[in-house]
Amino acid sequence: MQSSIGSTPKDAAAVILLRPGTNLTDPEVFLVRRSEKLAFLGGFHAFPGGQFDASDSEVLVENAADAETATAISCAARELFEETGVLLARGGDAMTHGQRASLLDDLQAGRMSWPGLLKHYELWLAAEDFTLVGRWVTPPFSARRFDTLFFLVKCPPKQHPQVAGDGELESGAWISAGDAFAQWQASQILAVPPVVHALKTLSAGLTNDLVKRFLSSPNAAREPIRRIEFRPNYICFPVRTPTKPPATHTNCYLIYTSKSLLVLDPGSPYEDEQLALAAAIDELLAAGRTLHGILLTHVHPDHVGGVAALQAHLGAARVFAHRFTAEALPTIQVDTTLNDEDMLALEGDPRILLWVMHTPGHARGHLCLYEERTGTLISGDNIVGLGSVLIDPPEGNMRDYFNSLERVRALPNLSVIFGGHGPAIATPYAKIDEYISHRLDRERKILQAVREGATTPKDIVAVVYTDVSPQAHAMAERAVLAHLEKLTDDGVVSQSSPGAYHAISAND
Ligand SMILES: [Zn+2]
Repeated sequence: MQSSIGSTPKDAAAVILLRPGTNLTDPEVFLVRRSEKLAFLGGFHAFPGGQFDASDSEVLVENAADAETATAISCAARELFEETGVLLARGGDAMTHGQRASLLDDLQAGRMSWPGLLKHYELWLAAEDFTLVGRWVTPPFSARRFDTLFFLVKCPPKQHPQVAGDGELESGAWISAGDAFAQWQASQILAVPPVVHALKTLSAGLTNDLVKRFLSSPNAAREPIRRIEFRPNYICFPVRTPTKPPATHTNCYLIYTSKSLLVLDPGSPYEDEQLALAAAIDELLAAGRTLHGILLTHVHPDHVGGVAALQAHLGAARVFAHRFTAEALPTIQVDTTLNDEDMLALEGDPRILLWVMHTPGHARGHLCLYEERTGTLISGDNIVGLGSVLIDPPEGNMRDYFNSLERVRALPNLSVIFGGHGPAIATPYAKIDEYISHRLDRERKILQAVREGATTPKDIVAVVYTDVSPQAHAMAERAVLAHLEKLTDDGVVSQSSPGAYHAISAND
């Protein structure tokens, strides 16, 4: 039942490339950084890899366990070649760097297919060169999901991986697994769970039980990942909620230190999801932490739907929210109201100081949290990693929303945004700029439509939202109304009769 929720994962393969002659106690791997321009996990650190191509299955792989593994190995080898220039095929030992480069050019220009190229140059793939060290499935909080086989591979001695930097990958370099893991621990890089797991596993050395240690995580055998720690001490725990498509889940966050735990937005009304979250919280508390409380970013049901169940489970738990949120939720007892510039201190190691920002726009009592030490912003539904943010009056207010976006844009050292839906955002400033320019663009088009004679939100949607499906028109009308209210405030539009607007010309 649950596996059918969200999009079906696409098959993919990735390569953990080991440096030739590397140090056995702390081996070096080839770590790449994804381009900041990518919509999915842009700016994340990762390993070379990608989705299966239709022709990957046409490659014969010597000694492969089965057809599926053979296709995955073919995909892994092709992606590695395309992204780094390293060709992991047998029979090509005498090939020069220049010859490999010309092969790569043939492949990338489409003059030869991957199977065709291997065949033509009498090259072949051998399963022994690719050690399977796990198979991980992207959690269902993302519209893009992959079922990825990870292969550990030794780079051939005379080949040197290189990333061109003009495609999906921005850069790549050899780095010791221990150093890379330390960078993740120091909140300097972001990576998805299988990458963090690989770096941690490899940092303990190329031991005899290496593969066993790789496979010791149940998630390495496709068990769905519940806790996603893009950054230490911030667990993203997506829970299934009746939310707005394309999202199917709301991100609950478990922010912890050695002594304290803060739960943010336990939003699921479904018992199975509430139990899964409660189990994760119990585990963190059983390790000696005390519960600081439950914090609500805003009033919407997909963010507060599991509060009562969690309180019942824990016996008692303080609830924190803005006054406007508290007032709008009579069934939830809010113990502490939070205001702009309040500070929450989670004692322990590391001590986490969270600045509260009142950021209305999506909802009147919307809160964001900012940790200056690591540049972490918890953005609630003001900025999300998946789908778009609806500004629905009167709870939503476009002018407030712009102001809130400008306020978080002005924070000095943002390095990550954790939104209410979808994966973490590694490119905070670019993302906020994109939000602002998208809204300004919509606003210009709406004003233009009004100037050309459209008067009601319905008329305006018909002209401006041509890229939106008719089913989404009711929601688009709410967004248009929010823009019209702002334009009215700005003095460029006025309401001529209820629900009808006209433009104020310069000589009105
Ligand atoms: Zn919301």
